[in-house]
Amino acid sequence: MAAPKTLIAGNWKMNGLRADGVTLAKSVAAGAPAVVAKAELLMCPPATLISLVSNTLAEVLRQGLVSIGGQNCHPEASGAHTGDVSAPMLADLGCKYVIVGHSERRTNHSEDDPQVWQKAVAAQQAGLIPIICVGETEAERDRGEALNVVRRQITGSLPDAAKAGNVVIAYEPVWAIGTGKTPSLADIAEVHDAMRALLNEKMTDGDGVRLLYGGSVKPGNAAEILALANVNGALVGGASLKADDFLAIAAAA
Ligand code: PEP
Repeated sequence: MAAPKTLIAGNWKMNGLRADGVTLAKSVAAGAPAVVAKAELLMCPPATLISLVSNTLAEVLRQGLVSIGGQNCHPEASGAHTGDVSAPMLADLGCKYVIVGHSERRTNHSEDDPQVWQKAVAAQQAGLIPIICVGETEAERDRGEALNVVRRQITGSLPDAAKAGNVVIAYEPVWAIGTGKTPSLADIAEVHDAMRALLNEKMTDGDGVRLLYGGSVKPGNAAEILALANVNGALVGGASLKADDFLAIAAAA
């Protein structure tokens, strides 16, 4: 099976007012033609900006130069869930992807694997591709549990209907997110190889699932990380807020 197209996903987190969002989105879109042969570009703005970014980039989205995604979704399609956003709502705004199970959601909102599984299923039912985030804490790595944690999280959150084209997995060691620290290339490769092997046990087309690495990816370290055999892209937090850095990461693919 041919290697899946590299995905460079930007997680803007809770950053940006309307003017910032439009400026950033337009800057990324302006640079997209130069990198689109190498990578699919995805921007995941805060929920408040998705509609604006989606409308601003309508033509660019139609051409497939960039994609838009959500940062989270509720497991249910609608109902009495004050403050939440559902997967069909994101799809209705033009989203193609949604991040689920980010470590900040797991930590700050006590999300566990069964909830992440529910959200991933809801995303697929709405026609979205869930980007399921997994990754160990520093204490778990120090105890030698990184591989077991990642395998347990994937097993607990991968929808039964997962196929190569309808799910993405992001390995994000919790201790590497926003810290400037990254695992060694050998450690990233070890986890990604283990994830690939697990997906091939669970799916007939596991080789086609995109496996992203996330955690302090920058222009300076992107090329060596993206060159690893089972790394098919990156989930980028801080560096996705600067269009030049985000585009440089994509150009390194
Ligand atoms: C993230 O939040 O998904 C992330 C990878 O953040 P950063 O790139 O800032 O470490």
